[in-house]
Amino acid sequence: MKRVGFTSTIPLEVLVAAGRRPVDLNNVFIGGEKSVRLVEDAEMAGFPRNVCGWIKGIYSAVRDSGIREVIAVTEGDCSYTKALMEVLSLEGVSIVPFAYPPDRDRDNLRREIEKLMLHFGVGQEEMDRAKKRLDVIRRKLREIDRLTWQEELVSGWENHFYQVSASDMNGDPDSFEGEVDHFLRKVRERKPFGKRLRLAYIGVPPVIPEIYPFLETLDARVVFNETQRQFAMPYDTNDIVEQYRLYTYPYDIFHRLADIVTETVARRVDGVIHYVQSFCFRQIEDLIIRRKLPFPIITLEGDKPGPLDERTKIRLEGFIEMLEQKGNEPFTQSLC
Ligand code: SF4
Repeated sequence: MKRVGFTSTIPLEVLVAAGRRPVDLNNVFIGGEKSVRLVEDAEMAGFPRNVCGWIKGIYSAVRDSGIREVIAVTEGDCSYTKALMEVLSLEGVSIVPFAYPPDRDRDNLRREIEKLMLHFGVGQEEMDRAKKRLDVIRRKLREIDRLTWQEELVSGWENHFYQVSASDMNGDPDSFEGEVDHFLRKVRERKPFGKRLRLAYIGVPPVIPEIYPFLETLDARVVFNETQRQFAMPYDTNDIVEQYRLYTYPYDIFHRLADIVTETVARRVDGVIHYVQSFCFRQIEDLIIRRKLPFPIITLEGDKPGPLDERTKIRLEGFIEMLEQKGNEPFTQSLC
């Protein structure tokens, strides 16, 4: 089955309907054991040190895996993507652009999806079949998410892992569904974690996944992974265009904030971790998030893959201690 890479979540239904093997290049970069080396390889190839680690990782993941066709999300993801695609194109990789319209315009989004369908030779009937198939798996992922915050049976890292994998279903929806089913059977036999503090994790997925187990050593647990949950398409709709309009990540911060506020309140979180990536334009949004969210917030910055550094550990310990002292005091800041 021919593999097609992509730089950020795209309408997965197109690749599934076309019989291609979808590969989220972010997952290739961070999911394997070579992530440190992949960043170094990109720097050796000439990528500047002050460019985001994810971009360098994606570049090397394409070269390392031998993928020859990549869908590039040119609007709604990353300001570096266009230059990254130019470099890959120079190296002979075939680039297919896809753009989320900044104003979430329905007609423009439909046209973008249709362009992809045309490129991969897919008709509406095949698309509908693919959507129905993927939606079955997405509903199971929603159950994993529910078991995380309502039943306390799933750890923050497990929640992160299954939802982040939804972007490409690990390249094979059928075997991914088997893994999800197995996991669901296993967790239902567990006893609730019963950690004292409930946290939200917002922002791009971390380049340092050790954050999750470290928090659990402090008697705290992530019960909401914002972006990862979005990759799993958490809204039930039969309309594919609407599905990718409701998906918050590619659009403005206020659209994302509406979802963050709803979920953090429903999940009764005690505090919020806002993760930002070094050299990422999204860091600027931290100031809006701090003004609008009615919870204590710690902003963590990550650069390259590797172990959690001592300074970040100390900052997290201080944050958790502060939340413990705060107890159940009500917050006075208003909701946005
Ligand atoms: S973290 Fe920011 S700079 Fe890096 S790839 Fe994602 S959007 Fe781009």
